Amino acid sequence: TLDRAAARRWMDAFAADFETQRVRLTELDRAAGDGDFGANLRSALGKVQQRLAADPQTARAVFAAVSDAFLDTGGTSGPLFGMWFRALSRALPETDPADVTQLAEGVREGTATVQRLGGAEVGDKTMVDAMVPAVAALTDATGTGPQQALTAAAEAAEAGAASTEDLVARRGRASYVGEVARGVLDPGALAVALFFRAGARALD
Ligand code: ADP
Ligand code: MG
Ligand code: MG
Repeated sequence: TLDRAAARRWMDAFAADFETQRVRLTELDRAAGDGDFGANLRSALGKVQQRLAADPQTARAVFAAVSDAFLDTGGTSGPLFGMWFRALSRALPETDPADVTQLAEGVREGTATVQRLGGAEVGDKTMVDAMVPAVAALTDATGTGPQQALTAAAEAAEAGAASTEDLVARRGRASYVGEVARGVLDPGALAVALFFRAGARALD
């Protein structure tokens, strides 16, 4: 069930998984960018905790709080994730629970917004490389439960993130370093995969 409590478990699981990967994410961004990705995400997730203290009453409201926290954070990833979560929130119902169709719609809308704002296509070595396959997996999983849908989304996002390793970047700071980025996973794509995997674990 995707309700307020599940959305909070999902964000708690994501924050915990992020902490285990924070140094790695920072090193990836250092190798092909400016090295602040782990700090930016940590800052955003700290603001998420502050905003969740207001005890939002629906999954929609939880993700609205998450969106506001990311929009209040720096880096390229802050505003892009902020707009992604905003679209996710807006696709969910005013009254819990949300269903997989609404979840899929929100992730689709959010990914379209990220692509419109950032101009990235699949293969440009960005978070979009994990988001787009997750949208397809969630769409295919309509009719199953959230846990099954998020497991499929996690697998798709993980494969998408892995696919960024051999690419040179066409968007973001990693595009400034050309061939140096080849062999370096995109940290934004990896964070998207962590997010869906955390959801698969946190929901039932
Ligand atoms: P910055 O590069 O400004 O320091 P962050 O380190 O916070 O920003 O985030 C870097 C991540 O942002 C990258 O790993 C990539 O996934 C994502 N990113 C960068 N530019 C774009 C873009 N134009 N479209 C989508 N995602 C992008
Ligand atoms: Mg950076
Ligand atoms: Mg930066």
